Amino acid sequence: MKIRRVAMKNYRNYVDQTLEFAPGTNVFLGQNAQGKTNILEAVYYGALGRSHRTSADGELVRWNEGEARLSVVFSRRDAENELEFRFFRDKRRKMTRNGASIRMKDLIGTLNVVLFSPEDLFLIKGAPAGRRRFLDMEISQADPAYFYDLAIYTRLLSQRNSLLKKIRDGEASEDELPIWDTQLVPRAVSVMKKRIDAVKKLDGLAEKTQKEISGGAECLALRYEIHGMDEENDGRMTKELFSWYNGKLAESKKLDILRGATRFGPHRDDLAFLVNDVDLRAYGSQGQQRTGILALKLAELAFFHEETGEYPVLLLDDVMSELDRGRREQLLSFIRGEELQALITATDEAYLPSEGFGTVFRVEHGTVKMA
Ligand code: ATP
Ligand code: MG
Repeated sequence: MKIRRVAMKNYRNYVDQTLEFAPGTNVFLGQNAQGKTNILEAVYYGALGRSHRTSADGELVRWNEGEARLSVVFSRRDAENELEFRFFRDKRRKMTRNGASIRMKDLIGTLNVVLFSPEDLFLIKGAPAGRRRFLDMEISQADPAYFYDLAIYTRLLSQRNSLLKKIRDGEASEDELPIWDTQLVPRAVSVMKKRIDAVKKLDGLAEKTQKEISGGAECLALRYEIHGMDEENDGRMTKELFSWYNGKLAESKKLDILRGATRFGPHRDDLAFLVNDVDLRAYGSQGQQRTGILALKLAELAFFHEETGEYPVLLLDDVMSELDRGRREQLLSFIRGEELQALITATDEAYLPSEGFGTVFRVEHGTVKMA
């Protein structure tokens, strides 16, 4: 998968900029606040239909302008596609693929990206929501049906939660709960099952990359943790998950009503990182976490390659300066060794190989020039 061209009109700090990308490595150099991340954000938007920095599309519109336009042209299995977005301050964005209007569920999975930015270094120690989001973005891109299941689950969950509050306040009857639960349970189980399967695949790949990075000293394992389930869930069949989750909803009914919230379900699950059987979330040293994240990102690339037959576009935002020399070189040698397109931002070329490393662009005040 390769991005050919990105055109931005009144998008963030760009007035009217068209960029042609090289098929291999593209480096964007510039001082702070010049527009480097804005370029990566535009590509990320093309893949996921949202920014990684904001959920308010209005923020993408250049100040004092009413409308922004973004076009992302990319090739996938040699076919060229164009995604176009129009953003407004006060209306919903419009989105087309090759000229035809599309919705979010048609977009996801069209273009695949893996973003690695300094915030990812907090993924292991951060709140579970970040790790769930990581999984959700990952699986959605490889399996658009997952994105659909997740959206429906999220909607049903919020409807169930408002019903729970109404029951608590005497405005609705408990008899209404089963109507929602018969819809909620299959979606929840489908989400859990797909997450379990994806984590199992990532686990195998991350174990390999971690061994390479740590010179064989560390063995990384990833586990999907179902909230409220004590045993390992790897072998769980859909049918077992079904009856387990039904049981949990029944067991927790009184408390759920009291709290006006659903205590169990994929919205409470987590992803565990274990190195030599030690839980990195609680006990990982900073270096171990960094190695773990790098191994995870490389595993993510391999995961997409296995699932879709092509590498996603790798977006590296400012991470080179955050990695020590050894880890940086691991990452660079991976990028060099594979048929993959990478877009890399940096303030300083000191962290990049001095010769023959990709196509270099200079970013200054919302204009981009080939160096
Ligand atoms: P750093 O090295 O600090 O990460 P960067 O080059 O990645 O910097 P970006 O985040 O791409 O910087 O761009 C930030 C610039 O874009 C800032 O100057 C910011 O004020 C400007 N900017 C952000 N949103 C808008 C907008 N809607 N309209 C105009 N300018 C904007
Ligand atoms: Mg930036």
